[in-house]
Amino acid sequence: MRPEALNPLFVEVDVLDGVGPKLRRPLEKLGLARIKDLTYHLPDRFVERRAVSNLDEAGVGENVVVALTVREHRAAAGRGPFRVVAEDDIGNHCTLIYFGRASYTAKKQLALGERRWVAGRLDQYGQALQIVHPEHVSESTSAPLAQLREAVYPLSEGLTQGRIAGLVQQALKGLPELPEWIEPGLLDRMQWPAWREALQEAHKAAHAAARDRLAYDELLANALALMLVRQSNRAQRGSPLSGNGSLRTKLRLPFALTGAQKRSIAEIEGDLGQSAPMLRLLQGDVGAGKTVVALSAMLIAVEAGAQAALLAPTEILARQHFETLRKMLEGTGVEIALLTGRDKGRARESILMGLLDGSIDIVVGTHAIFQDSVEYRNLALVVIDEQHRFGVGQRLMLARKGRRTPHTLAMTATPIPRTLTLAQYGEMDVSRLDELPPGRQAIDTRVVSVERIADVAGALARHFETGQQAYWVCPMVRENETDDIAAAEARFAVLKERFGEDVVLVHGQLRPEAKDAAMEQFASGRARLLVATTVIEVGVDVPNATLMVIEQAERFGLAQLHQLRGRVGRGSEKSTCLLLRGNSLSETARQRLALMRETQDGFRLAEEDLELRGGGELLGTRQSGDTPFRIASLEQIQKLLPLAHDDARLLMERDGGLSGKRGEAARQLLYLFERDWGVQLLRGG
Ligand code: ADP
Ligand code: MG
Repeated sequence: MRPEALNPLFVEVDVLDGVGPKLRRPLEKLGLARIKDLTYHLPDRFVERRAVSNLDEAGVGENVVVALTVREHRAAAGRGPFRVVAEDDIGNHCTLIYFGRASYTAKKQLALGERRWVAGRLDQYGQALQIVHPEHVSESTSAPLAQLREAVYPLSEGLTQGRIAGLVQQALKGLPELPEWIEPGLLDRMQWPAWREALQEAHKAAHAAARDRLAYDELLANALALMLVRQSNRAQRGSPLSGNGSLRTKLRLPFALTGAQKRSIAEIEGDLGQSAPMLRLLQGDVGAGKTVVALSAMLIAVEAGAQAALLAPTEILARQHFETLRKMLEGTGVEIALLTGRDKGRARESILMGLLDGSIDIVVGTHAIFQDSVEYRNLALVVIDEQHRFGVGQRLMLARKGRRTPHTLAMTATPIPRTLTLAQYGEMDVSRLDELPPGRQAIDTRVVSVERIADVAGALARHFETGQQAYWVCPMVRENETDDIAAAEARFAVLKERFGEDVVLVHGQLRPEAKDAAMEQFASGRARLLVATTVIEVGVDVPNATLMVIEQAERFGLAQLHQLRGRVGRGSEKSTCLLLRGNSLSETARQRLALMRETQDGFRLAEEDLELRGGGELLGTRQSGDTPFRIASLEQIQKLLPLAHDDARLLMERDGGLSGKRGEAARQLLYLFERDWGVQLLRGG
């Protein structure tokens, strides 16, 4: 049970003044469902404003607060903005510009003839002064603005800075006093504030010590939880599985296994033979050949008379794995089935029966394979592909499926820097596929200006004449999925005009059937060009696709570009990757693209990505992407994770049951960061 002191933090945001059904959606989009989420919704940065008495005193580009009198409303023409012409106290004109829905509020707030305090960034457009989307407008009878320094929060459509800041302040009022879980010596040395104070400070100013403390809390919670998993796993009994090789020898693979594959399979076989459940991570760059290793592991389970399950993060990937494995298994007599959330009715019933009576040996699917309604006769091995998309908690939920804890093999192509490996997989043993299958050729990577897009289309045409296929990737930027998809659809239309029926499109909002049909057409070679958003990033395997075009490559992270590029260079033909770039590149973006050209080593790219991304912004970037952390930035992870890891280990050594005073505090920490499955393991013993 969650400690009572924490309850106020887990209350839904509805209890706050002003949160109704209308705000729920934008809040949910930001992951802000409970009070706790709001208190941890930390500012991206702070703006410092200067109050000026007129516009002559203000510089262009400066954040100011100034009194303006409204002179004229200019209605939006077509898709243009709504404009408010205003005047300062000495007659300077300034236009306030509003797009979209913001115009309605603006019209009300800025009635003709009224004098208002306006806060925002002063810009110049031609000769005219303007403020685009002023951050605040308030009555001019009050003091200019209580605070000139103001937090800038991540927003979603339908929210304003003022609104979110108000909600955060309300949420912070109810913060409980919690016991200290950080080792006192460390707290002293780092001069970190206490938890409650740290949260309050972090919303007031760019307070590095407060931010670090909050990040450290998260890292410590994670480290502790992983150690609890490890501890509990050691104490549990699984079923030792020993295969006799009868099925594995029946596999007719068109290639010989690499040394790294053989070594990994041997390591897995060793683990499976133990009664303690395996917890192993198989790490191998894209194209390293993880699938056949997973298959061998699953066959060991089947040889031992048990069942195995392969969990994939997406439908596309589940389907593809299923097809690949089914082909490999032809003639072995092994029964394999595919189960996804889409299977309904009779088909689903029959698969469920097969899993229950044991006639299905291997099941491949999305998380649907672990729903309550799915029962297994004897599930002894769970393979999780693209591990980084699932949290540890989810993994444990799976583990509870059988009567005995199944063995777990997690696979990831994300070449995680060492520091992050520790963070994410601290509790697992690791096998590395550090050798690519022979005959792979380096991918010829080039950076091309988007202005040469016509040449690129010409290159595509020549490429198709050789009978080979290609990918065209459009960027997917999280803030506005709809726009991204519109861009992908527009690109698709243009390419289709030129290449006709040879082109198919896949993106995240397509109906699943449409997505499958497109993938099918491409995989079978009937379509030559697959236009896609980043949904193809993970796992898709079409060796005949040897050209990849990535649009606006500068908008992707290095690790992501590497994953994408890994879709080509899978066969024996020479492959090419064209990175289309925009015209104005930042220095970092330029370096990133250059690095992509230079190396194909995923580990090196991941390390450099960390270097290039860290430090750039005032408060550290929070897009930690593939990490399981919400608060800690990549930079903070690098700096603080080793400390948290040592701290957690010491605590576990002294008080493995977390029953002492600090142990109790640590339990609260685990609940706070929702790693409470760690505590539950403790109780289960
Ligand atoms: P990963 O999942 O690690 O990205 P896959 O398992 O999809 O990689 O393998 C990539 C490609 O390499 C597949 O087409 C697969 O058949 C092939 N492959 C795997 N192992 C070998 C090997 N030892 N020799 C040659 N080709 C291999
Ligand atoms: Mg794979």
